[in-house]
Amino acid sequence: MGVSATVRVMSPEEIAAKSGGQTPYLLWPERSTHFAERAMRLRQLAANHPMRDFLLFVAELAQVQQTQLAAYPAIALPDPDALDRAANGLAPPLAAIDWPRDPAWRSELRELLTRLPQSLPQAARDTIARVAQADDAWLEAQADCLLAGVTRGLDLAAAPLVAAGLQIYFTHLLLAVQESAIGRGQPFGRIEDETVCPACASKPVASVTRNAGDLLGQRYLGCSLCGLQWHMVRIKCTHCLSTQSVAYQSLQRAADEHESEAAASAVAQAEVCDGCGHYLKIFHSDRDPHVDAVADDLATLTLDLLVSESGSRRHGVNLMLLFGEPEGDSAAQAEPDPPDPDPR
Ligand SMILES: [Zn+2]
Ligand SMILES: [Zn+2]
Repeated sequence: MGVSATVRVMSPEEIAAKSGGQTPYLLWPERSTHFAERAMRLRQLAANHPMRDFLLFVAELAQVQQTQLAAYPAIALPDPDALDRAANGLAPPLAAIDWPRDPAWRSELRELLTRLPQSLPQAARDTIARVAQADDAWLEAQADCLLAGVTRGLDLAAAPLVAAGLQIYFTHLLLAVQESAIGRGQPFGRIEDETVCPACASKPVASVTRNAGDLLGQRYLGCSLCGLQWHMVRIKCTHCLSTQSVAYQSLQRAADEHESEAAASAVAQAEVCDGCGHYLKIFHSDRDPHVDAVADDLATLTLDLLVSESGSRRHGVNLMLLFGEPEGDSAAQAEPDPPDPDPR
């Protein structure tokens, strides 16, 4: 620990000054608590939850992710000129799909697998053993599929493990670039496409509204990969950016079924856009300060089922639970709403 003790990340005020507004455009994952808070939230939500075992499994993953993020080995950082070019072109400086990943991500992933507790269910231990024995080429191919949002060829059981390794690597990369750029100009800021992470261009998991001070009520989208959060005004579709046809759905009726699921439901809404047919969940931290986009998203799967009944599609991605649908397959990328694959 203590590897980042001598570096200083910009304060929200400095970032706000840089972005020229009162609301900071970016909120940074905290190196010392980012995954630990997620683990805590997952354990809180797991009590009496129908997906208890899975939530506890992801909590174990998050706990190890925290340990590794706090002491990540040195990795190759991008060339400052490349960062400047990205900033000037309003492009994401660490675009994940094309990023030349440092091999350290694989050794850290293998280390993560050895740190997971032996007490996990047999099926999880079998998957862990399988990933531990996988060669470099297989891990890289799985990572490519995950980052491109392609589920064809993806090992869905192994995906949360590989994704956990990628999350630590990209969160560390984000923070290391930010820390190394201090005094040189801000490498991160708005990019052309508001619907994806301004650092790594991954999709958001969900939105979270903030409950503190100047940020009260402001909505931030949380990156599914690197954990950066970026601001977007409320009541706006996070997929097509329309402000015309956004409505909200929630799960009040299910509230008496399971206590902790009800707790998660109370802070969750689905922001549904009739214009493009997509939705993203929004979690209200003024109703519960411990909200975590990844954890709360997993604990409110019932809300996805409710919203998808009316034909809406998820804009958000949760790397801990991918759906086996061809949402991100290359042909569908530029399509706002691909046609029903089976019209009969
Ligand atoms: Zn990101
Ligand atoms: Zn829309």
